[in-house]
Amino acid sequence: KTRVYRFGNKSADGNSEMKNLLGGKGANLAEMSAIGIPVPPGFTITTEVCTDYNLLGEEAVLSMIKEEVEASIVNIERLMGTKFGDKNNPLLVSVRSGARVSMPGMMDTVLNLGINDEVVLGLAIKTKNEHFAWDSYRRFIQMYGGVVLGMKPASKEDIDPFEEIMENLKEKRGIYLDTEFSIQDLKDLVYDFKDAVKKQTGHDFPINPWDQLWGAIIAVFNSWNGNRAIYYRNMHGYPEDWGTAVNVQAMVYGNMGDNSGTGVCFTRDAGTGENVFNGEYLINAQGEDVVAGVRTPQQITRLGSKRWATLAKIEEQDRFENYPSLEELMPSIYKELDAYQQKLEGHYRDMQDMEFTIQDGKLWILQTRTGKRTGAAMVKIAIDLLKENKIDEAEALLRIEPNKLDELLHPIFDPDALKTALIIAQGLPASPGAATGKIVFFADEANKFKTSILVRIETSPEDLEGMNIAKGILTARGGMTSHAAVVARGMGKCCISGAGALKINYKKRTLTVDGHEYHEGDWISLNGSTGNIIEGKVNTIEPKLTGEFAEIMKLSDKYSVMKVRTNADTPKDARVARSFGAQGIGLTRTEHMFFEVDRIKAMREMILADTVKGRKLALDELLPMQREDFEGIFEAMAGLPVTIRLLDPPLHEFVPHQLETQRSLAEDMHISLEAVKIKVAELEEFNPMLGHRGCRLGITYPEITAMQTRAIIEAALNVKAKGKIAIPEIMVPLVGTVKEFEVQEDIIRNTAHTVFKERNDSIDYLVGTMIEIPRAALLADKIAKRADFFSFGTNDLTQMTFGYSRDDASKFLPVYLEKGVLKVDPFEVLDQEGVGQLVKIGTERGRSIKPNLKVGICGEHGGEPSSVEFCYNVGMNYVSCSPYRVPIARLVSAQAVI
Ligand code: ADP
Ligand code: MG
Ligand code: MG
Repeated sequence: KTRVYRFGNKSADGNSEMKNLLGGKGANLAEMSAIGIPVPPGFTITTEVCTDYNLLGEEAVLSMIKEEVEASIVNIERLMGTKFGDKNNPLLVSVRSGARVSMPGMMDTVLNLGINDEVVLGLAIKTKNEHFAWDSYRRFIQMYGGVVLGMKPASKEDIDPFEEIMENLKEKRGIYLDTEFSIQDLKDLVYDFKDAVKKQTGHDFPINPWDQLWGAIIAVFNSWNGNRAIYYRNMHGYPEDWGTAVNVQAMVYGNMGDNSGTGVCFTRDAGTGENVFNGEYLINAQGEDVVAGVRTPQQITRLGSKRWATLAKIEEQDRFENYPSLEELMPSIYKELDAYQQKLEGHYRDMQDMEFTIQDGKLWILQTRTGKRTGAAMVKIAIDLLKENKIDEAEALLRIEPNKLDELLHPIFDPDALKTALIIAQGLPASPGAATGKIVFFADEANKFKTSILVRIETSPEDLEGMNIAKGILTARGGMTSHAAVVARGMGKCCISGAGALKINYKKRTLTVDGHEYHEGDWISLNGSTGNIIEGKVNTIEPKLTGEFAEIMKLSDKYSVMKVRTNADTPKDARVARSFGAQGIGLTRTEHMFFEVDRIKAMREMILADTVKGRKLALDELLPMQREDFEGIFEAMAGLPVTIRLLDPPLHEFVPHQLETQRSLAEDMHISLEAVKIKVAELEEFNPMLGHRGCRLGITYPEITAMQTRAIIEAALNVKAKGKIAIPEIMVPLVGTVKEFEVQEDIIRNTAHTVFKERNDSIDYLVGTMIEIPRAALLADKIAKRADFFSFGTNDLTQMTFGYSRDDASKFLPVYLEKGVLKVDPFEVLDQEGVGQLVKIGTERGRSIKPNLKVGICGEHGGEPSSVEFCYNVGMNYVSCSPYRVPIARLVSAQAVI
């Protein structure tokens, strides 16, 4: 079995298809090498070795890979003409992690490995650059110390121990930048760093290059089980047994002086999706300098640089002299890079996120991967690639991550409110969106307030969890490719980075701008699209959907066969859903209409009535109100079917429980307070979810079913009279026996018939049922003899199949998820294994009687991607979900066909 795959010199053992084995980084390094992109030679230790390591431990694994690694180092030596550990002509390598999917900054990398007190001298002589040699050495100790030897800040208010040493030296020397250290400074740093390591770990810093190498390989394996990686994995549902690959690669040096540098670039704009090459670089820098924001990075293209200068309010002359773009500073390197980015995007047929390094005038590419992007960019790039004929329609649809569409539907700042907003500073528009919240300064305190904005000098992978919780992220340092920016875009979270005017004091927990001080808990607002930082709260409004979004939706409808309806209880919801493309209503809950102030009284009178006559009187009061509601909904959905469910919840939910309200009700009804109290007590149930609700209400109080039917049919006729088309579908809830349905159906059909006669007019309508009790699914064939349609109420069906009370599940479900008893919350993601069987059986048995039986779903699951796909596979006619999930369901419905 091969455990080590080599790449370099325009060839490779692996390729980009082998991400599972080589990790994303390794597979793409191999691919790039094979298609002739200049990649420093190296090799990849497979993810399987990581899995072996987790089972067998260090010793077993090292002996497994020793020979292959040694031989592969020799191969690099041959290609580079240098020698690992050699004093005169040393080879230094980087040891890089790389799982099968990119987890930016989640795992660890060590650069400049193979250097020690002797090698550094040789390196200095060979390169005639003593400053560079010592800078590389201090960087190595710093990274190796952190990644392999576990050097950490003492507490969260403290900075990294090595950073602290550097800061102190800078202060002593009166300098600001890492590049300003003298050779002697760097030597002092190396000495002090080693000293700090010895003090904190009790061991000498390892000087043997091979010890360094094995240590780093093991550390990369370990990083797969580090807190950051675990959190990231859990967030995305990646399994633990994937493991990470390890890439060992010849170093190329961006820190050799003014003819060297390093940078990050994107083939398109990851925030907006615009087709413009963009990125950032730093002269005389290495590795993560750009991402970590140690200095303000410069732009790659002239266009980008000009845009940046406008935002930063920098004059053109100043920009050109002090912050030139790579295009202006090193035109021929830029041209080469531009050619590679085009080649790579063409090759992978998707937006790429690349790393490069310039060593003394020669360009090297160190990484390419599919770039993380915002929801808006995702949609625009897919449509643009389709128009550029790079991908076909099916591919364009598959490029859309359903849940990410959600971002596009989120509110934006109200332009009117923005006119009067106080802008306190400006940063880079790193990830678009509108966020308002209270200031917090530490990621682990993001949940201190209900809505918080995480304000940091810069973020690190440690902060991931807090970034996820916060509504927005603001950093004082770092550019468009900084950690904060990249991660925020991936999360679809609003982010402003590099707001240099902010002075942040972690110890005092303050943010100072222009002498004005803001404290933890103060409100601020971020406009991620402009980079404006605004004092206080700003109102938001609904977003306008883009043309590309509309195109994706049109394309979805072209491919999908299953329809998407919405759950809507009001004309407003219905209109919103229709604007999102809903093809009807799958569920209108009539009870919500009863909770309005003026109606609840009539409702209560109806419930508390002792006689049928009293009840009818109250129902007569309710009738016109319901009819009006239904008319509004039918009009909003004119021409499309509207499923209305009859009264479902336990009556107990409607009666007053407070003495004051009970008293006024008694007065209104001219009965004693005592009588009200008794009635309320009578309605009390031990287990209301399994109690007197659903069709059981309509059977005990047939007048309710009759009133609701009358309201629906009259409303439909009224709408018809206005020249619009109403298509009512009346739905009986909580049916468990055939007879239950029959009794209700008779009332409905008789009432409708009466109304038709009264009006001397008629309209088509359907009478169907919810399938939400397991027994109904099992007896679906019998029910289908009478029912016109089925709608799976998977909320109740899940509750009853699992036997988990939805209202009490919060007591144990979190524990279940934590302990792995359940993988996901079955109320969120349809349990295909169990509940899904009932859905299948119900559909099959129903259709065995009526082959064309209309079947749909109206639980929360109707908008959850994996559940929607399941519904398609079962052969449903439609799914129904909340208005804001409609676009997602439309997309998934198309993806399911492809
Ligand atoms: P991550 O996955 O966090 O991006 P990487 O393994 O890509 O980590 O490496 C971190 C940084 O070091 C990147 O900027 C990368 O370009 C740089 N780097 C990695 N290997 C080399 C190398 N052989 N020569 C020069 N720079 C390198
Ligand atoms: Mg890293
Ligand atoms: Mg990288």
